[in-house]
Amino acid sequence: MKIGVLIELEAETLDKIFTYNVPKNLIDKIKLGVRVLVPFGRQTIEGFIVKIYKDTDTVISEFEVKNIISVIDDIQILNEELMNIGKYISDTCICKLITAYQAMLPSAYKAKVKNEYKPKTIKYILLNKDIDTINKYIDNNKRAKKQIELLSCLINNNRLEKTLFDSSIVKTLLNKDLIKIEEQIINRFKIHNIENKKVITLTEKQRYVATEVINNINKSDTYLLYGVTGSGKTEVYIEIIKHALSLNKEALMLVPEISLTPQMVSRFTSVFGEKIAVLHSGLSNVEKFDEYRKIINNEVKIVIGARSAVFAPLKNIGVIIIDEEHTSSYKQDNYPRYNAIDIAKLRSKFHSCPLILGSATPSLESFARAKKGVYKLLTLPSRVGKSVLPIVNIVDMREENKKKYSIFSNILLDKIKEKLDKNEQIILLLNRRGYSTFITCQNCGFVHKCPNCDISLTYHKTSNMMRCHYCGYSANPLNICPECESSEIKDLGYGTQRVEEELKTIFNVPIIRMDVDTTSKKGSHEKIIEAFKNEKYKILLGTQMIAKGLDFPKVSLVGVINADISLNIPDFRSSERTFQLLSQVAGRAGRSDILGEVIIQTFNPDHYSIQYTKIHDYISFYNKEMNIRKILKYPPYYYITLIRILSKDYKEGSIEATKVKNYLKNNLSKSDIILGPTTSFMFKINNIYRFQCIIKYKKDDNLFKVLKELVNHYKTNRIVNIEIDNNPNKL
Ligand code: ADP
Ligand code: ZN
Ligand code: ZN
Repeated sequence: MKIGVLIELEAETLDKIFTYNVPKNLIDKIKLGVRVLVPFGRQTIEGFIVKIYKDTDTVISEFEVKNIISVIDDIQILNEELMNIGKYISDTCICKLITAYQAMLPSAYKAKVKNEYKPKTIKYILLNKDIDTINKYIDNNKRAKKQIELLSCLINNNRLEKTLFDSSIVKTLLNKDLIKIEEQIINRFKIHNIENKKVITLTEKQRYVATEVINNINKSDTYLLYGVTGSGKTEVYIEIIKHALSLNKEALMLVPEISLTPQMVSRFTSVFGEKIAVLHSGLSNVEKFDEYRKIINNEVKIVIGARSAVFAPLKNIGVIIIDEEHTSSYKQDNYPRYNAIDIAKLRSKFHSCPLILGSATPSLESFARAKKGVYKLLTLPSRVGKSVLPIVNIVDMREENKKKYSIFSNILLDKIKEKLDKNEQIILLLNRRGYSTFITCQNCGFVHKCPNCDISLTYHKTSNMMRCHYCGYSANPLNICPECESSEIKDLGYGTQRVEEELKTIFNVPIIRMDVDTTSKKGSHEKIIEAFKNEKYKILLGTQMIAKGLDFPKVSLVGVINADISLNIPDFRSSERTFQLLSQVAGRAGRSDILGEVIIQTFNPDHYSIQYTKIHDYISFYNKEMNIRKILKYPPYYYITLIRILSKDYKEGSIEATKVKNYLKNNLSKSDIILGPTTSFMFKINNIYRFQCIIKYKKDDNLFKVLKELVNHYKTNRIVNIEIDNNPNKL
């Protein structure tokens, strides 16, 4: 028997499938998508079986066909569906097939040079003979005290852990065939903090929404569930999943980041019990190994996880849910840059099941699709029960800073004090997305922007110039604000640690901080969230990671320390991101019966992102932003593809960037808009210069083919590299 094996070879620019022979004794174990160990040159490496030849096939190989050494898996790592998904990623992200497969799998299941994962087991001993035989043995061997003790224990207990007993005694009894050993695989990942079971009766609106999906549970429609914060989306998900499980199907649930998984897992476990697998980057490699194996072996009904859980090898999916669908983390930030929502759509088609995208602030792309009828729109317009959306106050920091420069406005400090006195909890958000390289007037909030692109200019220290990295426009940095003639025009920036210190000098209460520094240790997200939920802390101070999804009933005040940072990063999505962030974090306040309040500190109190957050008006925000996107030809009116040209050599990079642009102009559809080349926002990283071209297009069937040729052309180039990012998160 001959098979085709896909191997990862760094040096190769294209996928190569190598032919191997299967010795007779291994033929039974050969399945597509299983890993095999093969000799390759002087080494032995792992690869995936991607082809099984029939005896009648003529197989041509450039090399001598060798025997495989062994078959690694007894379970199919890549089933047919996943193999096709890999093909899709390879085509649309322009990467090798093997790169796609490796990206889809947890570390323990990748094809690597060395792979030593084993399930963890516990050995138990059990009686191997009927009670009479055992009793007879006991009677005849009265002096073997330890043996008798062991056997007596087993008479009273069905099975016992082997390690409890002396190993020589166990051995003796094993030899006499009186006992036997049973091995049980155990999971290294443990679910902590299972929530108390809540009895919930869906509201009429929730029931309506759930029923819409349930009535179409066998169709591969995509739904957008637009439900305000606290409208009880999770309960709707649970209801639909219950239905899917009742049909003996499975559910796949994606959450945006690891900080949100513990809460979801705990809620789901209280409803569905333990038939849940969890997959996210907070798990260790062995834990992921176990969770994945459970899924392949059909031991779980529900998978909850972050982006890469979209590849979970469930075989009979009844519903796929993507919570907080607007979150940029569903798109992988490095190579291969796939989007989990696209993959979920493929899977929904394959399994003929609904895909639900949920959010209080849907991405413009998704809402536009829902309005066009591409997605089915479901709405939950109000909070559950007595709870109402919080009151939002905007604080104009220009006015505040006229009195005295401070991180905290007087209003915010007063409110914090008021809530602390009432024994309620507070969340403070320090907006740190982006970088402090844009320049803003501390007096009036003016931001230096590109006249052509309506995005803020970036300050380049090396050249001492302000640049637009979309179109290349440049200008001298301003010393005096053109709006108000103040000389207080500079960049802003302070970290969570400093804010924490300052808070501690003002309020004598326990404060907990949640940011990249405090969450680097395994399980720390969970600990912080639990501790805050149990009211060990009064104030939770954090970055973007505290903004979404969390449900703390005792929080009555949310303060946003600096709303502006995300507003001013040079990206066409910065208004959208700001609106989402502010609305989401505001949504953490007043989720039970206490009224919530939100204080937003900003230098741009009149900006529409902030104004529409104040009145909780997603639709008006959407309409306003869509107008701007239309005029400037951004998504959702156009698709965008980013081509990055990277080089250690500035001059070579710049020359090739122009060639790339010309190649694109000559080969892509004439209706495509091609911008650049310009330097990238982050122009030099690790001594590598970065240039970019942007393609804006409505429809271009040729695009991937043209890009693939471009990438292949530069694959062997030692000086210049190309990166492609479809529908990028950032420009
Ligand atoms: P969302 O995800 O839409 O922000 P959640 O699903 O977290 O909202 O629900 C908000 C709160 O309301 C949760 O504490 C939840 O338990 C509660 N809740 C949701 N639906 C109901 C209901 N039908 N009856 C009572 N409480 C509910
Ligand atoms: Zn000014
Ligand atoms: Zn510009």
